[in-house]
Amino acid sequence: MHLMETGCLFVVATPIGNLADITQRAIETLRKVDLIAAEDTRHSRKLLACLAINARLVSLHDHNERSRAKTLIEQMQHGALVALVSDAGTPTISDPGYYLVRTAQDAGIPVSPVPGASAVVAALSASGLPVNRFYFHGFLPDRAAARREALQHLADIRGTLVFYESSRRMIACLQDVSDVLGGEREMAVARELTKVHETVSRNRVSAVLDDYLAGRSELRGEFVLLVAGAQEVDRDGDMRQVQMLLDELGDSLPAGRLASAVSRAMSVPRKRVYRMVLDMKGRQ
Ligand code: SAM
Repeated sequence: MHLMETGCLFVVATPIGNLADITQRAIETLRKVDLIAAEDTRHSRKLLACLAINARLVSLHDHNERSRAKTLIEQMQHGALVALVSDAGTPTISDPGYYLVRTAQDAGIPVSPVPGASAVVAALSASGLPVNRFYFHGFLPDRAAARREALQHLADIRGTLVFYESSRRMIACLQDVSDVLGGEREMAVARELTKVHETVSRNRVSAVLDDYLAGRSELRGEFVLLVAGAQEVDRDGDMRQVQMLLDELGDSLPAGRLASAVSRAMSVPRKRVYRMVLDMKGRQ
């Protein structure tokens, strides 16, 4: 143990596929700490073996984070230097660690990032989609209804939307993105980043979905999905125009045809217009 008053928690990023992406500071930090808290100790031991680091490891995962945090904080209060790592990329980004970071801060322990790889940033950087504003959502819910609802809440966001996705759910997820956000939006799929079979492609949502359904795109591996944010037509002013059109045409057409006509005229997803039609009819 170090003879410091209080220790420190280092949040250390590790590679997302390519070992050469480990940073010099990550190596130095993992060498100097007293203890490494790892999502999966067996997994991290392999990385440490490649780096010739023989460190003390304890597990910290979703199921033991609270009790483990308590012990780690006591150790840091006695001067221990602790590194937090996850299986890949940056801890706390769709990975355990948030609770430990927060409670360590609350206990007056300095928390210091040792930045490096993260799939979200790597995918954005090569996506070809606007990155001046983005919204990282992590994993969408597993259940279809909850997933659609989550997407619905994101429909008006004007920054690029970023999702982590498993190969198992890719097609269902793309189908929901197409239905809820519209097949016309541009999207990028970043697969197996930094690994041998890395691919990054960009196309309309409908075309990406067609390629997967037809088996033209590879479904194996790890994926980041990026979807262009709501278009300019989604601006408040334009949506007011949609509402004005609906008010004008309201009684002349059945709900479905009205939604289709206004959706085409204003290039706004039909589902969105249809919801407005139902709201309007409900008020009448
Ligand atoms: N903490 C990690 C980070 O900073 O990116 C993310 C961990 S999360 C449990 C794992 C998910 O991240 C995968 O299901 C996938 O969506 C994405 N991911 C991780 N590595 C990736 C890679 N090499 N290529 C594409 N996506 C990746």
